[in-house]
Amino acid sequence: MSDERLFPGPSPVQADTLNAWRELFESKHSADFAQLKGTDCLEEPIFTFEVDYRDIDQNDLLSLYFNEMPVSTIELANEVLRTMVAEYEVSDIRCILRPVSLPSERTKSISALRMRNRGTIVSCVVRVKDVGPRLGYLQEALYVCAKCDHRETVKQRIARERKRPDGPCKECFNKAMVDFEGKIPYSYYESLRKSMKLTAEGSFYKDIQYLSVSDIDDSSAQPIWVIIDDEYVDRFSVGDTVRINGIVQIDPVPDRNFMKDTRRILQIHAFSVEPL
Ligand SMILES: [Zn+2]
Repeated sequence: MSDERLFPGPSPVQADTLNAWRELFESKHSADFAQLKGTDCLEEPIFTFEVDYRDIDQNDLLSLYFNEMPVSTIELANEVLRTMVAEYEVSDIRCILRPVSLPSERTKSISALRMRNRGTIVSCVVRVKDVGPRLGYLQEALYVCAKCDHRETVKQRIARERKRPDGPCKECFNKAMVDFEGKIPYSYYESLRKSMKLTAEGSFYKDIQYLSVSDIDDSSAQPIWVIIDDEYVDRFSVGDTVRINGIVQIDPVPDRNFMKDTRRILQIHAFSVEPL
């Protein structure tokens, strides 16, 4: 077997997006990085990296991907921020992209949101009706092979069944293909499949919190849940008026008692919150 290993690099779309984010951060946010330099003893290990939505919109490529695939495009921005923080020798600080100042055409009222708005970016002025408990969720699960220590990280979603790696340990599988000359016995394959074990160490837990919010001008309006994360957790109280910028998502009803329940509720996963 060849010792040469192929590490999948970013796809062309990802590479272009990473470059575009870096250009934006370098051209518009050098002051932020200068401010961060040498401040590794911040009380909060999170730096809210606010980016004006108009700057994103002015870049054709970022505008396209941010609006089409907001979640993965924001993830790529955070990856660039991680790299740039390391380059600026700022330790122990996690920068999180928070796009703010969305254009008025994104403004929607909570009562107007419907299932068809799923996946779209909205900006809603709301009153906080209820604040849920602080929660953690497993954002990235680290699996380690019990036979060879091969590691694999599996991204997870909020309020969904935990996902395991697809198939068996890839290292052990490739070795077995050679050892058994391409015909791995089923029982051996099964033992490989069970060899990937979840480890707490190295798995990444994210702080989240649910806020129940409704339109400010309608006291009888039906509230919906907003998911906030990281530095926003524990920052808001009942009665606060805030602007929530985020992505409309649908989620299983919270009290479902059977796995294949088809009922869904609307919620907003906030990517930024602006106090008003
Ligand atoms: Zn293995």
